[in-house]
Amino acid sequence: MQGVGFRPFVYALALRLGLSGHVGNDADGVFIEVEGPPARVAGFLAMLETEPPPLARVERVRSAAIAVTGGAGFAIVPSPAGGPRNTLVPADSATCADCLAEMRDPGDRRFRYPFINCTNCGPRFTIVRDVPYDRPATTMAGFPMCPACAAEYADPADRRFHAQPVCCPACGPTLRLLPTPGVLDAGGDPLTKDALARAAGLLRAGRVLAVKGLGGYHLAVDAGSEQAAAALRARKHREDKPFAIMVADANAARQLCEVDEMAESLLVSGQRPIVLLPRLRSAPVADAVAPGRQELGIMLAYTPLHQLLLAEAGRPIVLTSGNVSDEPIAYEDADAMSRLAGIADGFLVHDRPIHMRTDDSVVRVFRGREMVLRRSRGYVPSPLPAGPFTRPVLGCGAELKNTFCLGKGSHAFVSHHIGDLENYETLKSFTSGIEHFQRLFDVTPAVVAHDLHPEYLSTKYALELPDVELVGVQHHHAHIASCLADNSFDGPVIGVAFDGTGYGLDGTLWGGEFLLADLASFTRAGYLEPVPLPGGAAAIRQPWRMAAAYLGDDAADLDGIADLDVVRRNAARWDAVVALGRSGLNSPLTSSAGRLFDAVAAILGVRDEIRYEGQAAIELEQLADPAVTDSYPCGVSDGAELRVLGRELVHAAVQDMRSAIPASVISARFHNAVADMIAATCRELRSRTGRDVVALSGGVFQNVLLLTRTVALLEAAGFRVLTHSRIPPNDAGISLGQAVVAAAMGRDG
Ligand code: ZN
Ligand code: ZN
Ligand code: FE
Repeated sequence: MQGVGFRPFVYALALRLGLSGHVGNDADGVFIEVEGPPARVAGFLAMLETEPPPLARVERVRSAAIAVTGGAGFAIVPSPAGGPRNTLVPADSATCADCLAEMRDPGDRRFRYPFINCTNCGPRFTIVRDVPYDRPATTMAGFPMCPACAAEYADPADRRFHAQPVCCPACGPTLRLLPTPGVLDAGGDPLTKDALARAAGLLRAGRVLAVKGLGGYHLAVDAGSEQAAAALRARKHREDKPFAIMVADANAARQLCEVDEMAESLLVSGQRPIVLLPRLRSAPVADAVAPGRQELGIMLAYTPLHQLLLAEAGRPIVLTSGNVSDEPIAYEDADAMSRLAGIADGFLVHDRPIHMRTDDSVVRVFRGREMVLRRSRGYVPSPLPAGPFTRPVLGCGAELKNTFCLGKGSHAFVSHHIGDLENYETLKSFTSGIEHFQRLFDVTPAVVAHDLHPEYLSTKYALELPDVELVGVQHHHAHIASCLADNSFDGPVIGVAFDGTGYGLDGTLWGGEFLLADLASFTRAGYLEPVPLPGGAAAIRQPWRMAAAYLGDDAADLDGIADLDVVRRNAARWDAVVALGRSGLNSPLTSSAGRLFDAVAAILGVRDEIRYEGQAAIELEQLADPAVTDSYPCGVSDGAELRVLGRELVHAAVQDMRSAIPASVISARFHNAVADMIAATCRELRSRTGRDVVALSGGVFQNVLLLTRTVALLEAAGFRVLTHSRIPPNDAGISLGQAVVAAAMGRDG
């Protein structure tokens, strides 16, 4: 990879060991010739792998003896021009400790400079327009280096040797605070002087500040101000979905949340994701920041601009994507100004363009390991080991939480978070993103893999591509394949794919699936007994409809249901919705596990309507008392395909409600029952097939309570269990799954 300081590291290492020779880049990576005493050459080889610079990743070192040339000195040689490209573009990385120290040193020429960076840190993927990765191909092209910066750039012994975005107050981008009329009195326009202090003043005064960041515009408010957080919610038209919080450092994070060792290592990592952490009761965070949530999404300041702003503001700030409702995050200046004009009271901006829109990544800790839930800024475009891809492959991904994936050689390049492909902006982001990745990584896909859902825009995109081989990949097979790729495991496995919905081979909506799968193929071995989805998409927005689908209008074995609150609350439409489900009109059958959670959530009174995807299930999970260990029995109908009777769990929950059992106990018993049901079904499939590895995938496994209990039961039963870590279990992983399935089918066929 270029621009991560690997050649200067080699240079310094050779000088330190007194070796002569040279180092350079070519299409295959880095080549080095060294000459000197054998013991020192051996030490040199070892240290290449043990001491590389922070942003470098050494995949493998191959070495061979060559004739001695008797040369003296060590040199960095220029890259040969032309030839196939194989250098990788680095991901953006948080400001390093050395740069922070310089930024805080009044004697340094970059004192308080919001764009300080070096070879070990700074913007990368978000500013790269083209390859090879050199300054003219980035959005720093418009900032010619001053002599001082140019000298650092050219000096192999300097920390900024070949740092493409290197700059300083004399030659680099400038910060400005743009006032919004009537809010800020413009004492000189644009406000370059004291921009930070005045921006921080806006935050302290409870105003909404737009901040141009690394991958897009954010909206910021004081995280402790109820009024400011509520105003931001109202102006963004974002009702319940939690906002993320940015803090200055790990100590500040500890004032808000429980932070264990693993969580801290994620918070302070170069990727600087949003980390979901248990909220402290004492946390001085406004209720409107994350209404009803026991966790907060916390990230540490990751650019020098954020560091300075946090220091000036002196408090945690909400930092949420700069957009209205579900639109993509704004990243182009003019677009941001117009779209955010009605939301922000001021704009803290700069003149370094953002080339790639990239959202903040989201992770959590699961059993001491990182579990990525949204893989974007900081992680992308680092490749994942996968394949081999004997022909270049494009996986087009799903509809919601879309990503795409390019497979080439032994690398899978999974894209940044594109979003929900439901409007023109997102679709444009999808198609232009694919073109950008194809150019950056020099991939022209010969095989294009897509979902089977004919209405997904990603499917339609694939079907219109000329001169490619198309491979349709079933949604839940792609989920399981993504989990296999995440674990570098080929199968065969028992795959448990639990999610909201995915298009099934029989044209119904699947989502509670037990698959006997490897990368190339699968069979459907079991599933949740299907129920109607009354009114289609309306049933996804209104979980009470799923209660109606599961309970019907009389539920004979429950002696009627007229006494239930969920029926009373929705009495006006209950019978009509039940009838709609029975009629099959706009009510496809679904085996969705997500909808089973919705039904139970509605019955327990958690909520009848949702305002964001997964809300009812998330709230049901939070409700559960983790000390409760008992469960409900769940029947499985025997047959070639196992049918799991989810209805029995719903009925057991209803009986508990009638016995005045607290909702916290019922929720826990329900979660335990789903885990029991998964383990029992996997045991049955093991007895039929001998398979003893289980892969768990799909958005439902973002539910940590369910995941924890399921893994524990499976491991106690002697299974090896694969869960997600580097790639999300939700639909953001589908593109990788599609790509590896298509590659495996190609290898087998
Ligand atoms: Zn640095
Ligand atoms: Zn300069
Ligand atoms: Fe899915």
